[in-house]
Amino acid sequence: METAQYATAETERAAPDDPVTVIRGIAARRSSLLAKLGIRTVRDLLLHIPVRYEDRTQSSRILDAQDGETCTIEAAASAEPAHTRPRRTLSVWRLAVSDGTGHMNVIWFNQDYAVRNIHPGDRFLFFGTVRRTGGRIEMTNPAFERLPDGVEKAGQVLPVYGLTEGVSQNQLRAHVREALKRLAEDAGEMLPADMRNRHALMGWSEAVGTIHFPACIESARVARDRLAFDELLELQVGIRVQRGANSRKTGVAMPRDPLDDLRKSLPFQLTAAQEKVLDEILGDMGRTVAMNRLLQGDVGSGKTIVAFMAALSAIRAGYQAALMVPTEILADQHMRAAQSLLACLGVRLSCLKGGMRKKERSGILSVLAEGGPDLVIGTHALLTGDVIFSRLGLVITDEQHRFGVRQRSLLSGKGTMPHLLVMTATPIPRTLALMLYGDLDISALNGLPPGRKPIRTYVVEEGMRPRIEAFVRKLVGEGRQVYIVCPLVEESEELQAESAEAMSERLQESVFPDLRIGLLHGRMKPADKDAVMTRFSKGELDILVATTVIEVGVNVPNACIMIVENAERFGLSQLHQLRGRVGRGAEQSHCILFRGGGGKIAAERLAAIEATQDGFVLAEQDLKLRGPGEVFGTRQSGLPECRIADLYGDLDLMQAARDEAVLLAGPDAQMRGTDLWKLRNFLLKRFAERIKDIAMN
Ligand code: ADP
Ligand code: MG
Repeated sequence: METAQYATAETERAAPDDPVTVIRGIAARRSSLLAKLGIRTVRDLLLHIPVRYEDRTQSSRILDAQDGETCTIEAAASAEPAHTRPRRTLSVWRLAVSDGTGHMNVIWFNQDYAVRNIHPGDRFLFFGTVRRTGGRIEMTNPAFERLPDGVEKAGQVLPVYGLTEGVSQNQLRAHVREALKRLAEDAGEMLPADMRNRHALMGWSEAVGTIHFPACIESARVARDRLAFDELLELQVGIRVQRGANSRKTGVAMPRDPLDDLRKSLPFQLTAAQEKVLDEILGDMGRTVAMNRLLQGDVGSGKTIVAFMAALSAIRAGYQAALMVPTEILADQHMRAAQSLLACLGVRLSCLKGGMRKKERSGILSVLAEGGPDLVIGTHALLTGDVIFSRLGLVITDEQHRFGVRQRSLLSGKGTMPHLLVMTATPIPRTLALMLYGDLDISALNGLPPGRKPIRTYVVEEGMRPRIEAFVRKLVGEGRQVYIVCPLVEESEELQAESAEAMSERLQESVFPDLRIGLLHGRMKPADKDAVMTRFSKGELDILVATTVIEVGVNVPNACIMIVENAERFGLSQLHQLRGRVGRGAEQSHCILFRGGGGKIAAERLAAIEATQDGFVLAEQDLKLRGPGEVFGTRQSGLPECRIADLYGDLDLMQAARDEAVLLAGPDAQMRGTDLWKLRNFLLKRFAERIKDIAMN
């Protein structure tokens, strides 16, 4: 036990915002350990909610306890603990206990600290597995808890916390108990009573008491709902106020260009869905309020051309446009497309990537600042401080899910409130979209362009390889092209690159010596990547062996077989994205997924991808299999992580929080000075702190 320097007298009430050091038993050393768990204030401690519970409400009598039964037994020490040391490395403590129905021996191996301060008559709850051997009853290394004197209790539901080294489960429980004891009765409540009543929410201090030490599991759930609501409300109000700050900024109203010349030069007609979203986008750009729009359309739905048309309209109105993409391969591809579609209409283009030479880069930068190019396509390299636009009017980000909110606003900051269009192929249920991209309007590009044949998807085992190779040879003979994606190697692009190299060598030497095989991975020099991709898209390569660098955006309509090795290692949306590289032309396309093992979840994923091509359906399944944190990378999205609420499971609470947030985040001046105003400021302060936290990580 540390010697604590008590900041306040033991009996004094603690406020939620007090530092944890006001709690008895938490001194400097302990508080720095707690800080690792994000616990700095009493409130933080109380909101460090259990990850699960041990249900000890059903305590058993020693008399009834069966051999092998895991149970809770309430008993008192009948003697001092006895120590033996049968071997130098083995320390054994035995404690005889009794509960009036029988006697039991509690045994601890090498846990000398466990028996400290145990004396005859002390009462405990022991939680563990009972052994009956030769008339004796024993429990070894049980979890246990000392019962305070004079308090009758048959047992409890005990919290189990996420821990950090140096802080034990029992210590944390004791700290929380102490904090609850010291908490002023109606402390911490920020929600007005009528709001709580509207949504049947528990009071705050009752909720924090209940979530740590519930009478039963069900009441813990009700308490959790209350605290989850707080968290969702904080997010919603934070996002809404941010949005308010944005939308009050005016944008430039750009006259709408008919774009007839571009339309005429296209080898296809825009679909009705494309026309609709383009209309929404150009409509926004025609207003004096800056556009803030998410274009959500499944892989292959044709977002690029919509983006180009919006860009051309802005350019014709006299502004510059910027298109930001997550990979250099994609930047090069968009550049090629823009060269063939836009350059002939007099649009001046330039491309900015990370791997550029200094001289080349500074050349581009100076032209940019002078207002040179009309459309700049680039990667993160667009974000650095030295990139200055003179008349930036439209910012487009492609594959938005790969970027964070902050990156998005960094680029917007380079113009005087340019219009903003963000595009993503990761379909998100609408409620979640509002949550994650709460500050955006949403356009949905439904359906694929006409004439596409559904991609045939097969999950196959190794034994099928010869047949698949023969199939590849046949289609290549007919002029088609093939992707082969190498197994995903967690955490190591390097290893994945090596496996891609080995694979392309093997194919070239012993399987397809007569075919033209290219190799593409993240470790290659940018110029080499570009060269390979250009050859593949021109049809000068038959097979492209690649790593997941081709996962997003790559568009080569003549490629119509996608082979994925060890497909069980990939996530659902990743497989969907990979499959989306084919089926982009009129030819029948095939996606072949080699399964090299994997458990039940992997099998479910592969079955799901085989069964449907609807990105929305797959996204929902993915959510169920993996949870929203992983699917949408909430961290990466630039929003604080939910610690209590579950973005997928708590849709009702989210709806309730949104209804309240609408009012709280509104510009209603009458609110000033009221409880609602206090609540709003409290939420905004917490939101800002959390945003700061993620900015530093
Ligand atoms: P994504 O939405 O995945 O970014 P792309 O913009 O890359 O999709 O488009 C996929 C393919 O569909 C491209 O080859 C593109 O030229 C083609 N395409 C786009 N719109 C149409 C259309 N209206 N009719 C036919 N093909 C189209
Ligand atoms: Mg795309």
